[in-house]
Amino acid sequence: MAEWFTEQLAIVPGMRAQIEVTKKLASERSQFQKLEVYETTSLGRMLVLDDVIQCTEFDEQSYHEMICQVPLFAHPNPQKVLIIGGGDGGSVRECLKHKSVQEVHLCEIDKRVVDLCLEHIPSMAGKVTDPRVHCHYEDGAAWAKNHPDTYDIIIVDSSDPIGPAEVLFQFPFYESCRNALKSDGILATQAENFLLHAKIIKELLSFGKKLFPISRYYYTQVPTYPGGMIGFTFFSRKHAHDELVDKRFAESGIKAEEFRFWSVDFHKKAFTLPGATMRDFYS
Ligand code: SAM
Repeated sequence: MAEWFTEQLAIVPGMRAQIEVTKKLASERSQFQKLEVYETTSLGRMLVLDDVIQCTEFDEQSYHEMICQVPLFAHPNPQKVLIIGGGDGGSVRECLKHKSVQEVHLCEIDKRVVDLCLEHIPSMAGKVTDPRVHCHYEDGAAWAKNHPDTYDIIIVDSSDPIGPAEVLFQFPFYESCRNALKSDGILATQAENFLLHAKIIKELLSFGKKLFPISRYYYTQVPTYPGGMIGFTFFSRKHAHDELVDKRFAESGIKAEEFRFWSVDFHKKAFTLPGATMRDFYS
């Protein structure tokens, strides 16, 4: 019997999202959060943490391709990648598309997210068991602080800045990530919706400006998120987002068909924002 799952948006008071679900596949409380997996009427399986929709099989590719492929194709030779959060495995899957990537370190605070997604959403989590992947069940902020000069790419695939992810939206964490990157490293982080959360994004961009020569924001469409889109910060120690992408894609051996959303063209255009937002974020 179908029912409606309702998300009340904690960071946008007075707004909610509803998705029709046909079956609750899992429901439990871990040391860190409440975890649920649902079968939905028309969006495939859905992961929910602390009553907040994290992803559905219908459009998770848009989020995961764009948070990962943009930094990966902007870097000349990404070999060692750190993913902070990302226990659903979608970002791991994206990083492994690159032959140059030798190691992916997944630093997820809550092992139960990985276990539940492996069991119920293998289309997303299935690659977590690949031999190139090393899982660390720890706080990502502490991990970044303790690994200076180690990574080519860091992807912060976090939940919203409430609960265990709050620390991942604060200046000391960004400073640790900058230091954990090699001298030409790139940091991409989940950075909310530019219309609904401009204040949070402006603060993140101010951190980026203090720490990196290149500090930008880009975004993509995710219809199942309230507001329909999600953005990311792109903080780079050396290379601009569009400097190497044509050459890197041509030489990568990856076929365009391996992506549903990412393309060289979409990669470049994702950084174009409406006029008022451009002025607000960059002036
Ligand atoms: N990939 C998802 C999407 O499509 O929107 C989003 C998020 S992923 C499930 C977010 C993960 O970040 C959660 O599994 C959560 O446990 C993890 N997380 C939250 N705070 C963390 C921290 N301080 N260190 C490491 N992982 C953290």
